[in-house]
Amino acid sequence: SRKFFVGGNWKLNGDKKSLGELMDTMNAAKVDPNVEVVCGAPSIYLDFVRSKLDAKFGVAAQNCYKVAKGAFTGEISPVMIKDCGVNWVILGHSERRHVFGESDELIGQKTAHALESGLSTKVIADNVKDWSKVVLAYEPVWAIGTGKTASPQQAQEVHDKLRGWLKANVSEAVASSVRIIYGGSVTGATCKELASQKDVDGFLVGGASLKPEIIEIINAKL
Ligand code: 13P
Repeated sequence: SRKFFVGGNWKLNGDKKSLGELMDTMNAAKVDPNVEVVCGAPSIYLDFVRSKLDAKFGVAAQNCYKVAKGAFTGEISPVMIKDCGVNWVILGHSERRHVFGESDELIGQKTAHALESGLSTKVIADNVKDWSKVVLAYEPVWAIGTGKTASPQQAQEVHDKLRGWLKANVSEAVASSVRIIYGGSVTGATCKELASQKDVDGFLVGGASLKPEIIEIINAKL
């Protein structure tokens, strides 16, 4: 069975004070032990977040480059992320595509390199060899940051189709084991019904992941 997965995507938000307070709240909260929780922090705070956040929570970078090192001003690499004790990276987020013009090709190269470097990733891409390290996020663009959440039926329908695609194009084993999570205006109020859908294996949460409300979302299955 697939372990429920809740990713927080803090995006370009917070400072040491506010993120420190958020982590104090998370560290002190009673959370469902059957849920894998990973917080996506701004890269400049990866060290800070990894050292402050309880070890039961994972940490993710929000982006990385496709090679380990070199003359690529402003970029960070999977080895640097791992060097900060961080094991995850979010790749292929729709904001990377729409605001920064990232192509499927680049995202695929980043994914391959991140996986080869030993990171796990949350990605929408099709050139993956080791699916055990991948969580797939479905985020309808009209639901991101808009306050409009997909209905549980809409999410279930798309997740079922994605699983069907994996079955047809990768393997039955991968289709039944890969976690497919939903993102787009997930809140404490909408999470429970979404979480009850059979192919919704968790969430990728933006706005609400910066608030104590994230605890409710982590505990959606309780
Ligand atoms: P919101 O939860 O703020 O809509 O963001 C969703 C998202 O893009 C998570 O990656």
